[in-house]
Amino acid sequence: MKEQLRDLARGVITQIELNERLMVETPFDNRVPVEVTGALTREGKQILLRFLARAVEDQSCSRCLGDTKFLYEIPYEEVVEIEQIETFDLSEVLRQELQLAAPMRVLCDEDCQGLCPHCGINLNEATCDCETEQIDPRLSALKRLLDE
Ligand SMILES: [Zn+2]
Ligand SMILES: [Zn+2]
Repeated sequence: MKEQLRDLARGVITQIELNERLMVETPFDNRVPVEVTGALTREGKQILLRFLARAVEDQSCSRCLGDTKFLYEIPYEEVVEIEQIETFDLSEVLRQELQLAAPMRVLCDEDCQGLCPHCGINLNEATCDCETEQIDPRLSALKRLLDE
């Protein structure tokens, strides 16, 4: 790609098609293959970088701890000055974009029931007989006082 970037900077070519698959480190310390499709296009004294990056990362659900997957789908558009193009590092751009796109928490399903806080059973797969009544901690303190 280095040579193509040089040609693009010199104006020998006006476009580089991006159809790449790069291994990139995710914010969760995994390395995943990222598919990149797009192009670098010379427009006057600047280069327009436009692509869509996609990657799938194995994750565990924040609620039930079950295996799930997170899909990164990142549209990207940036104008790069010609002088900067020879040092352009696609994998570094992707690494930063994955950081930004990373979720605070991953759920296997929006409706995931999680684990029972008492017995730890996976409530998506089974039910338990634990007390399910949710008592506000402030109210439970009051209740204790009243019970005494
Ligand atoms: Zn879950
Ligand atoms: Zn339970």
